[in-house]
Amino acid sequence: MDDCLFCKIGRKEIPAKLVYEDEAIFAFEDIHPQAPAHVLICPRKHVVSLTDATAEDTAMLGRLQLVAAKLATDRKLTDGYRTIINNGRGAGQSVFHLHLHLLGGRVFRWPPG
Ligand code: AMP
Ligand code: ZN
Repeated sequence: MDDCLFCKIGRKEIPAKLVYEDEAIFAFEDIHPQAPAHVLICPRKHVVSLTDATAEDTAMLGRLQLVAAKLATDRKLTDGYRTIINNGRGAGQSVFHLHLHLLGGRVFRWPPG
């Protein structure tokens, strides 16, 4: 997608603090962090939301979670962390390129707001 913010970050056309990348996935620091650790993990493939993912995306969806676990381990988030996908406007999605939030470094409440 030519005009997608996260596709542009993945192509390095817009600056971001990249913390991980491979051929299928890239991850960067959230610009408005909601916790001491707040990273966004994205597929290079432009998928709008989880609703738009298909069986072809099964491996990619698993890799998003495994990258989150690796970053959490690297950052020593030993007290726990959350991985979240906001799916659709009602759930708080504001950028329509699928991304997994990794949040850590503070206590989280349940149920989430
Ligand atoms: P969501 O609301 O789930 O769609 O998450 C979008 C996230 O992208 C928010 O947490 C924003 O703070 C973050 N964000 C928006 N623009 C940028 C940017 N240019 N660089 C890094 N993070 C961004
Ligand atoms: Zn995109």
